[in-house]
Amino acid sequence: MKIVALAGGVGGAKLVHGLAQILSPEELTVIVNTGDDFEHYGLYICPDMDTVCYTLAGLANPETGWGRVNETWNVIQNAFRLGGPGWFNLGDQDLGTHLERTRRLREGQTLSQITKDFCRAWGVEHTVLPMSDQPVRTIVETDDGELAFQEYFVHRRCEPRVKGFRFEGAEIAEPAPGAREALQSADAVIICPSNPWVSIDPILKVIPLDHPLLLSGEGRKGEGKSVTAISPIIGGQTVKGPAAKMFNELGIEPSALAVANHYRGLTSGFVLDRVDSQLEERVRGLNMRTLVTNTLMKSHDDRKQLARDVLNFIGVDV
Ligand code: GDP
Ligand code: CA
Repeated sequence: MKIVALAGGVGGAKLVHGLAQILSPEELTVIVNTGDDFEHYGLYICPDMDTVCYTLAGLANPETGWGRVNETWNVIQNAFRLGGPGWFNLGDQDLGTHLERTRRLREGQTLSQITKDFCRAWGVEHTVLPMSDQPVRTIVETDDGELAFQEYFVHRRCEPRVKGFRFEGAEIAEPAPGAREALQSADAVIICPSNPWVSIDPILKVIPLDHPLLLSGEGRKGEGKSVTAISPIIGGQTVKGPAAKMFNELGIEPSALAVANHYRGLTSGFVLDRVDSQLEERVRGLNMRTLVTNTLMKSHDDRKQLARDVLNFIGVDV
C-alpha cells in the first residue's frame, strides 16, 4: 500500500509522525506546504518543511511545535540587540539549517535536493518533498490590506480580519520532482489535520488532486484512489492556530462539517473527532465515508493511534 500525505506544519507533522512509525519509507511520501516560506535576515526559511522534518527526526521542540528541542537563542538575541527585526525568533540550531539551506540554494541546488540531503543527515528515512521547488507565496488578503503570510501570522499575530487568500506563483510552479509520480503510484492520499486555507490549499493549487492523471491509478480494491482528510477543527475550535478564526471571518461557522465542505468533491473519506459525532450524518451527506475517532494528538501514542485508525479506515491492515 502506497500512501501520500499532504501536510502543513504542526498538525500535519504530528499525524505524519504517527504514519511514519507504521509505514515503511517505500510506503509513505509526504508533500509539504511551502507557501509559508520567506526570507529573514537574508536566510531562506521553510517553516512547515522544517516542522515536518524535525518532527520525523525527533528533533522538534515539543512545547512550541516548531523549532528545535533543547534550543538556545544566542545568535538572534545578539542580532536583536544590534537593532535587527525582533518579530521572528530563530534558535541557534535552527539557524544552522537556514544558513546551510540558503548557501546551497544560492549555489543553485533545489529545495527538494537539499531537503533530501538534510533528511539523510537527520536520519529521516521517509521521503519528504516540498510541494514545489519554485517559490509560491501565500498572501493573506485582510481588512488591513494584503499581507505576506509570516507578516500576518507572526508579526501581526493573525489579528487583521481575513478576506481571502492568494498563492503567488502557484500558477507557474511545477510540482517538485517525484511528487507527481508518488501521487500517481499511490493507492491513497491522506490530507493531514492541517489548516485547510493556508496549509493544504496552497499544495492543492500547485498539485490539483482531481487532475485525471493523478487520480487515474487504481486503488487496492479496484475502487479508485481514495482521498481522506482529517479535520483540524475539533468541537468548533482549532487545537492551535487561526483556522477557526479564518472560517469565521470568511462567514463560515467553523466546524468539522465546514472542513468537510471545504474539501467537497475532492475527498472520498473524512475523519472527525468523537466530540463531533453529531456531524457525521451531515458529512456523509456530502458523499463522504466517515470515521469518528479520537483525533486530538497529545502524546506520541495518540499520533500512532490516529495514524492506525486512519489507515484501517482506508483499508490498510495495521
Ligand atoms: P501550521 O502550519 O504549523 O499552522 O500547521 P498545520 O496547518 O499543519 O496545523 C494547524 C492545524 O492543525 C490547526 O488547525 C490545528 O487545529 C490542527 N491541529 C493541531 N494539532 C492537532 C491535533 O492533535 N489533532 C487535530 N485533529 N488537529 C490538530
Ligand atoms: Ca505553516
